[in-house]
Amino acid sequence: MNQRTHSWIAIRAIALLKDENKEKNLVKLLKPHAREASVGAWIPDQADAKRGGAGALTDNHVLKIEPYTGSQRERFITHKEELLERIGMYRMTTQFLQNDNSLDRDWWATPYRGDVPKPGQHLPNRAMSLSTMMKDLLLMGDKRIDHLIPGDIRFAQYMIPETRTQEEAAAMYFFMLSHFIADACMPCHCDARKLAAYSEGLHKELERHWSRKVGTGFEKRNLLPKALLEDRERTHGDSDEVLEQARAIDTKFGLEFSEPAVPDLHRGHDVWLEVINLCRASFAMASIIAPYRQYRYDDSDARAPFKTVLDTGDRKLLKDLNKAVMYDAVLNTAIVWKHIWNKVSK
Ligand SMILES: [Zn+2]
Repeated sequence: MNQRTHSWIAIRAIALLKDENKEKNLVKLLKPHAREASVGAWIPDQADAKRGGAGALTDNHVLKIEPYTGSQRERFITHKEELLERIGMYRMTTQFLQNDNSLDRDWWATPYRGDVPKPGQHLPNRAMSLSTMMKDLLLMGDKRIDHLIPGDIRFAQYMIPETRTQEEAAAMYFFMLSHFIADACMPCHCDARKLAAYSEGLHKELERHWSRKVGTGFEKRNLLPKALLEDRERTHGDSDEVLEQARAIDTKFGLEFSEPAVPDLHRGHDVWLEVINLCRASFAMASIIAPYRQYRYDDSDARAPFKTVLDTGDRKLLKDLNKAVMYDAVLNTAIVWKHIWNKVSK
């Protein structure tokens, strides 16, 4: 997803939590900074987030999945019913996969495994490490954060105020985390085939299709015009307006968040396991969009242009895909945020 889409997802997730009307303090923390999501949710992909040598840039974050031929076959098989149970019926991705017949029993009985080109870039690892660290950082938050979290931390009295997590920084970490969660919902992001690489058509074309729907209103330059940056009061004051602007995009993707209810992580899951399963579901979706029999996993020359696989006939597949990916990217972001918040406040 590109900058506009990432900022929309994060802002829409704040609106979803607000509508749920439960995690009031989390909303209190995030809402005033909603416009800053256009910066935070995009940091992980910033090409210019680089210092010093070529190695000193924000690290990539992927989990590219492919058929596995090693010795631990059983471990990497997830049958359909099992995966759907793990990701839960409240997710649109589950419904998308449930309605599919193109992935047959053999497909689901095959082991698949995700890999990363370089150590440290594993997407579920990055989501897990950031969320674990965020819990610690929230516990030693500044006065404003402290005010939102029950109980007190005795050692905090020995900390220099500047070393405690500033509210603005905490909001920024939530937005950065939303980026990793959203990427796990992007089918091309979890498919090791060359045709799903960012430079090879489908991935970029699909993201462009989404960002056109989100529109320029979620561009950083429009959410954070210079005048607003200079006048923080105004920036914070109109955050209800920007939440409303985010809700208005729902119809473009056919989304209906009719019963705002943000569940907790699946029982027994931590963020890592939840994101692993989401990536696995995204890989299954990619194998439906670019049918695996036609676009073989071992064919590095195959390309599946957007026009050929999605922009066809009544565009039903495309519409279903848009709905599943966008609904879940927003919902999953809210689920993981809420999980972190509950850890420190309940
Ligand atoms: Zn990314």
